Amino acid sequence: MRLASKLGRAVLVSPDGERCIDVAKASSGRFGPAALTAYDEWDAFTAWAANAALDYATDGEPLLLEEVEAPSPTPRQVFAIGLNYRSHADESGFAYPEEPPTFTKFVSSFSGPVTELRLPNDTVDWEVELVAVIGRTAQGVAAADAWDHVAGLTVGQDFSERTLQLTGPAPQFSLGKSYPGFAPQGPWLVTPDELDDPTDLELTCTLNGEQVQGGSTEQMIFSVAELVHRLSAVTTLMPGDVIFTGTPAGVGGGRTPKWFLKPGDVVVSTIEGIGSLSQTCVSA
Ligand code: ZN
Repeated sequence: MRLASKLGRAVLVSPDGERCIDVAKASSGRFGPAALTAYDEWDAFTAWAANAALDYATDGEPLLLEEVEAPSPTPRQVFAIGLNYRSHADESGFAYPEEPPTFTKFVSSFSGPVTELRLPNDTVDWEVELVAVIGRTAQGVAAADAWDHVAGLTVGQDFSERTLQLTGPAPQFSLGKSYPGFAPQGPWLVTPDELDDPTDLELTCTLNGEQVQGGSTEQMIFSVAELVHRLSAVTTLMPGDVIFTGTPAGVGGGRTPKWFLKPGDVVVSTIEGIGSLSQTCVSA
C-alpha cells in the first residue's frame, strides 16, 4: 500500500503513482481527512484499505506531486540519526557511534517531494536518507519485534546548514537542519510488504544529474529495527512519528574542497522501490 498526504488530506496512491483516492471520502469518514488519523489506527486502517474496493481509474484523481506533503506531515515526534553509515562517519572525521547519535528536525522544516529549497546561506549540504514512520506505539520494543511497529518507509532529505550545525561549543544539529523546507519527504509511504527486502534498499542522491551519494540501507550501523529498539528503550514512539535514519558518504561537507548548494541547483534523492524527491534551490 502507498499512502500520501495531499493538501492536508490522506490519500491512497495507485501502484503506478499516477492517481490517488481520498481516504476520508472512500471510507465515509471512518479515517481521515488528516494522515495522522490513519497512523493512529494503523491496524484498523490497513485492514480497511486491504478490503476496500478502490478503483483508481474511475474513483481516483491525478496525483500532482507539487500538492503532496510528507507522508506523515504532522508527527508528534521526529527523530534523526547522525553518523549511521561508516562511510559517512569516515568522511566526517568521527568515530563510529556506540549508541545512535540522535537529534530532531523540527516539524516546521517538513515539506513535500517536489519543492523549492530556500538557501539561507552558502553552506547548505545534502543528505539522502531512508525515513521510517511508526505505525504502533512502541515502548521497550525488542529488535526482533520492531518491524511490527513500523507503518512504512519513505524517502527523506536531511538538508543541513553546516555552519550553524557545527558551531560550538555544543553543535546545533537540530537547528542547523530545521530551516523551512529542510526536511522534504515522500513522495509517499510504502508499506514494508511491498518491498522485496525492506532492510536492503539502494539510495542515491544526484546534484544537477551527477550522482553524489550512493549506498544501501543494509550498510546502516543501526538498522531500522535496531533504531526502533534503542529509541523505544528511552522514549515512547507514537503512531506517525518519523525517524530519519542517517546518510551514506558523499555529502558536500566531506569533500576537498567543500561543495555546497547554490541557487539553481537541483537535488534528486531516490530510494529503490519507493520513489524520488526533487528540490530546486533558490536564494533566500
Ligand atoms: Zn542526516
